[in-house]
This record gives sequence, structure tokens and C-alpha cells, in this order.
Amino acid sequence: MDRLIRGTQELGISLSEEHLTQFEIYYRELVEWNRRFNLTAITDYEAVQVRHFLDSLSCLLALPTPCLRAGARVVDVGTGAGFPGIPLKIVCPHISLTLVEATRKKVAFLEHLIGRLGLEDVRVIHARAEELGQQRAHRERYDWAMARAVAEMPTLVEYLLPLVRVGGAVLAQKGESGPAEVHAAEEAIRILGGEVRRLMPVHLHGIAETRYLVIVDKVAATPEKYPRRPGIPSKRPLGVRRQRSTLLTKPERDR
Ligand code: SAH
Repeated sequence: MDRLIRGTQELGISLSEEHLTQFEIYYRELVEWNRRFNLTAITDYEAVQVRHFLDSLSCLLALPTPCLRAGARVVDVGTGAGFPGIPLKIVCPHISLTLVEATRKKVAFLEHLIGRLGLEDVRVIHARAEELGQQRAHRERYDWAMARAVAEMPTLVEYLLPLVRVGGAVLAQKGESGPAEVHAAEEAIRILGGEVRRLMPVHLHGIAETRYLVIVDKVAATPEKYPRRPGIPSKRPLGVRRQRSTLLTKPERDR
């Protein structure tokens, strides 16, 4: 786990032997399950350490130090094979973690992995974010809602902001498009009761591109009609005017 050790050191995070053992198990289970189910395109030992584990842990740079407070309620939406939620839980075992994932086979993997790692106070929910955001048990219940590689910002904030209590925050992991996506989501963020706090560039050991951590504070309650029905936030992102190209394809289709 040299890559992970080096990368976390550069971020000012120190990992114990126990953490490293957990990440070794995580790696082996990921690769093993990936033979049967397509969980991730990244399976190379070093690449997983950097692009999955280290990248997930980079969220700590934007979170209250050194970890979130004990019992902090965290939801990771569209977690896939567990990123960023599970690496964060390994390093901050006292958080209360909810993983949300729409694909059944990924949910099965996550349940297996949580057992293998012996993680406590983690639950996996097989659902779409749009459904959860309208359920009393989940709406405005979380201190932090986070996501990586799930949707563009205008759509993503409609998945995440309804889940966060007023006073909590959203953390979105983004690539180089981060600043442009935040700009495009300004209207959506305002409508949903959010306010951009920070756009933080991150450089990871072994990755050339700049990554961004976007933090959006929840400053007001989200209007009841959001999130809209499953599929609508991605089809008609809030506050984004339809692109000309979409309008132009219609007459072409009619021809
Ligand atoms: N966060 C992980 C996975 C990214 S792939 C990572 O960074 O590696 C995106 C995942 O989000 C997929 O597993 C997909 O099933 C899930 N997803 C997409 N839209 C969703 C939604 N509306 N609700 C719940 N899960 C969703």
C-alpha cells in the first residue's frame, strides 16, 4: 500500500497498520467480486490505491479535522463500490454512515464488504436518491451528504441537498470541470436552500489533473417539491436552460 501511504502523508493524514489491513481486504474483495460483476474499471493494485482509496480520503481535507465528530450522520449517494463512503468510514470509524446505491449487485457487494471489514453503524439502502429525498426518515436528516462521479452539479444538488438538515452541508468530489459545474448549478443551489461555501482544489500523489472538493452549506429548507421524480433531475436539471443542440435535434428527428 505504498502509494496510499505516500499519498495520505502528503495530505497530512496518517494511517495505522490496522487501516492498511482494512484497505488490503477491501482491495482483494473488490477485485474478486469484479470478476463476476462489473463494479469498477479500475482494478490495478496501484491505481485502486490512488484513484479509489486516496481520492476518497481526500474528502477529509474539507471536513472538520481530524475526522468528523462521533455520531455525525453521513450519507454517500451513488456510492457504487463504496466510494468515498467506505474509505472514510475505515479512517473515521465513529461516523454513522448510510450508503445509497441504485444497482442491486453493488448493494450486494457493499453488504458483503461491510461484514468482511467488520464495520459498525453502516447501512446500505437500495434506492434512488430522488426517492429517499422524499422519505421522512431521510429527508433533511443528515449532517453531510456526499457523492463522487454520480451526476453533474445541477442534478447532483437535487439528489443531495434535500437529504441534508439546515446547518449541514454537501460535499461533492469533482474533476477539472468542478468550477464550471458549480457555476452552472448556482440557480439550482439557491432554489434548493444551499449556498456555496468553498471550491477547494486538491492535488493527489500520482494524479496530474486537479481535483475539486465542492462544499455547499444548507442554509434554508428545501421546497417540498424537490427532489422531483426519479429521472427528472438528470433529464431536466434545475436552473439549467435547455441547450440549443437539444432544440436543434427536434426538427431533424421530425424530418
Ligand atoms: N461513487 C462511486 C460510483 C460512481 S458511478 C465512485 O466514485 O466510484 C455512479 C453510481 O451512482 C452508480 O453505481 C449508479 O448506480 C449510482 N447512481 C446513479 N444515479 C443514482 C441515483 N439517482 N440514486 C442512487 N444511485 C445512483
